[in-house]
Amino acid sequence: MFLKISKPKKNIYLDHAAATPLDLRVKKVMTPFLNENFGNPSSLHQKGREAKAGLEQSRKMIADIIGASPSEVIFTAGGSESVNLAIFGVAGNIKNNQAHFITSSIEHHCVLNSFQALAGEGRQVSYIKVDGQGIINLEELKSAVRPETILISVMLANNEVGSLQPIAEIGKWLKGENAKRAAKKNPAILLHTDACQAAGYLDINVNRLGVDLMSVNGSKIYGPKQTGFLYVRSGIKLKPLVYGGGQERSLRSGTENVAGVVGLSRALELAQKEMAKENKRLKALRDYFINKVVKKDILLNGAYSKQLKVDNRLPNNINLTVKGVEGETLMLYLDSYGISVSTSSACSTGSAEASHVLLAMGRNEKEAKSSIRLTLGKYTTKADLDYVLKVLNGLIPELRSVKALN
Ligand SMILES: *Cc1c(COP(=O)(O)O)cnc(C)c1O
Repeated sequence: MFLKISKPKKNIYLDHAAATPLDLRVKKVMTPFLNENFGNPSSLHQKGREAKAGLEQSRKMIADIIGASPSEVIFTAGGSESVNLAIFGVAGNIKNNQAHFITSSIEHHCVLNSFQALAGEGRQVSYIKVDGQGIINLEELKSAVRPETILISVMLANNEVGSLQPIAEIGKWLKGENAKRAAKKNPAILLHTDACQAAGYLDINVNRLGVDLMSVNGSKIYGPKQTGFLYVRSGIKLKPLVYGGGQERSLRSGTENVAGVVGLSRALELAQKEMAKENKRLKALRDYFINKVVKKDILLNGAYSKQLKVDNRLPNNINLTVKGVEGETLMLYLDSYGISVSTSSACSTGSAEASHVLLAMGRNEKEAKSSIRLTLGKYTTKADLDYVLKVLNGLIPELRSVKALN
């Protein structure tokens, strides 16, 4: 009975790591900038000044939240663009082909593919491994550093399995390391973090993290899509990605997306303000589900330990390997019951490849292809999860028996 495809009557959306709905309070502050305050911020007349005020107020709001000054916040069209500006911006300013870059093996494709492009141009790139929990090996990172290393890029929280990376520890270590390098006249190593999954759930103060560059987007924090910013610590020179009228300190030319920026700043403000309470609620839901679902043949992927005082997993992430069932098949059947989940990263839909993150964590090809990701959000309830558990309890044995027949 569970295998019949029926038209879903409801939708239980559990794919918040891929996209979040626009918070109505965000929409509210955006609307005036789509309508009456439509001006070009570069115009000197009244309409221009209104738009410019919205843009600069948002920049100030974001700077205050992340512990930066407004001139260090560069608006972009999303996470991928921020990451590209950070990586190609640093690389483009260094002509030395010996320049060396370090990243992790579990980054989002916008990071991995940027480094792959650099490697294709003959640049040196090292990929740091992770442990079974999906957390980077700090000792390996430290020993990968060379005299020519100029950039380390490691994400703050992983989008597939939710594991948190020790960015503050890397930042602290780099401070000492860079002091020693200065004495030897080696270039300072810059630290970039992709904080797109983290901005809604973690402290993203750039000084506490010790980062020089940080990428954040709006679409994962109940803000508008195609919005984001790159934090660029004062004094760092980047090569622009987009040339033109010189907006965003000439790093990102083009008429600013004022309504988008205003929405992004409000979304970040709300997320950070409501984080403590919301994280607690999500964690309780996450752990309730994990405790009910994980069995001998349903494994949890990623960092998780009841003993740990400090949680090293995003509060809304559940990633499971369901043995004997293809993740994609399970995802499609869940969809027919009105439940939206994903197999691995939504950004690589269409590709039936096993997740590079799960493989890096030591799962085999079969286990990696038998995985689904459920990411909870601010409208997720316990009743939603009970419904998902009920459907899963019916579907999984049936899908396994169908597979066994073939
Ligand atoms: C979504 C995401 C990105 C890409 O952001 P876009 O706004 O879609 O370009 C980058 N990194 C991580 C970790 C993400 O989750």
